[in-house]
Amino acid sequence: MSPEEQSNGNLPLDSLMMNQDQRAELWKKTIDYIELYINEVENYRVIADLNAEDIRALIKSVDFNQPLGALEAIDFTVKVFQQYQTHTAHPRYFGLFDPAPATITIAAEILVAAVNPQLAVWSQSPFAVEVEQHLLKVFGEQFGYPTAEIDGTFTSGGAEANHTALLTALTNAFPDFGHIGVRAFSGNPVLYISSEAHHSLLKAARQCGLGSDGVRVIPVDDQLRMDLASLSAQIKSDKVAGFAPFMVVATAGTTNAGAVDSIEGIAEIAKRERLWLHTDAAWGGAFALVPEFRGILKGIELSDSITFDPHKLLAVTRGAGMYLTRHRSVLAETFRVETPYMPLQPSDGLDLVNPFMHSMQWSRKFIGMKLFLSLLVTGWDGYAEVIRRHVKLADYLRRELEKNSWTVVNDPSLAVVCFFDGTSLTGQSETYLESIAREVKASGQAWLSTTRIKNDCPMLRACISNHRSNQGDVDVLISELNEARRKYTECRERELTMATNVA
Ligand SMILES: *Cc1c(COP(=O)(O)O)cnc(C)c1O
Repeated sequence: MSPEEQSNGNLPLDSLMMNQDQRAELWKKTIDYIELYINEVENYRVIADLNAEDIRALIKSVDFNQPLGALEAIDFTVKVFQQYQTHTAHPRYFGLFDPAPATITIAAEILVAAVNPQLAVWSQSPFAVEVEQHLLKVFGEQFGYPTAEIDGTFTSGGAEANHTALLTALTNAFPDFGHIGVRAFSGNPVLYISSEAHHSLLKAARQCGLGSDGVRVIPVDDQLRMDLASLSAQIKSDKVAGFAPFMVVATAGTTNAGAVDSIEGIAEIAKRERLWLHTDAAWGGAFALVPEFRGILKGIELSDSITFDPHKLLAVTRGAGMYLTRHRSVLAETFRVETPYMPLQPSDGLDLVNPFMHSMQWSRKFIGMKLFLSLLVTGWDGYAEVIRRHVKLADYLRRELEKNSWTVVNDPSLAVVCFFDGTSLTGQSETYLESIAREVKASGQAWLSTTRIKNDCPMLRACISNHRSNQGDVDVLISELNEARRKYTECRERELTMATNVA
């Protein structure tokens, strides 16, 4: 009997497995939808309809006591997805490093879901584990690590990679940390990040028992890079006060404005003070793949560990992060556990990695597959070309903004542009910039964000990270910005006239 015949007439089994005809229809519907989405997304409104009441009512309208057919169920989600989703794949989404996924990575997700490898132990998924180990090696090499020293693990994203970095730094500084926990600390441990560093580090510090007070936030210079004199001074005064400095984090590509800390300068201080140097290159790390931009990340090879997110500029579907280190044994020291039920393979002298003893997660999916396939079809050169294109387009955006009297305030060489309105005194006020961003987003034509940089000054922020964006898309953004400015000014003038008339 075929599996279909066995399950015939058995409703729960039918709906899990489905028969061959039903599956054929389901695949067709799903694939047709994927193709439609790819073709049509640029005609959608970029921003999601943000009506929470409507969304909840829709979801509540389903009844798990009245199961639907698979096609109907897919129809239901697909219809509402379009409206209630900000389309980061849209070429005029100028947001937060969420490019349209490389097509092959969508296929990779489906294939991985079908085989569903368990990446806890090597013996269950030897090919998958070896693919990931290979990728960690070749990316470590791109960052300048000596091949023989590279180790690492795939993560759900940059936040988990940063958390892993903190744990390995603690294990390195306080070897008993794994056994006696926070009691292993000699003095209160403190780590150093810049005021532009990613907030996942604060969360990680809380989760490691240090609390956010254990994080020293070092000010930045006028180019938004960690101020090295302040770092040295803070370490010195912490030591005098009996704290135990153990780690410093350099950011290579800040989320706000694409600033890159002086990794070399920080490395020198880290060496002198015996601190673990972690470089958070979650998206900026992609610049290591472009020979003429590699210099931007100078010194990254000196880091004890690195965070890199293939799901950012490499356009791999979420989640795909990486933690890399040049300390071969630190992951094992940090995460080793033993359980009798895990089928371990004798390693016969080979260095076999069992991910559950080597990283935070236990059961986990084959994250590396989508990066493997994408790199296989795009190649290193292909990715270098994609990054070059982002930089060129960001330069076009900067020039067009300036032509239209928007003032760019950061160095946009990593394709992030921060700016305010140079035409009026209110052009730098938060209310004004937020209303400009709101207006642009409400048009449905483009999406950009606001942020605060340089002593907390509000800014508009547009980032080029989508290979589908082109000059025409930038032109639309500029005209939407100008239109929002015109509307706001008109509105203010009307208010002023009314106020004068009343007076
Ligand atoms: C995005 C980002 C992170 C967090 O990564 P996730 O993949 O979102 O978890 C950390 N650091 C930097 C610099 C980032 O840009």
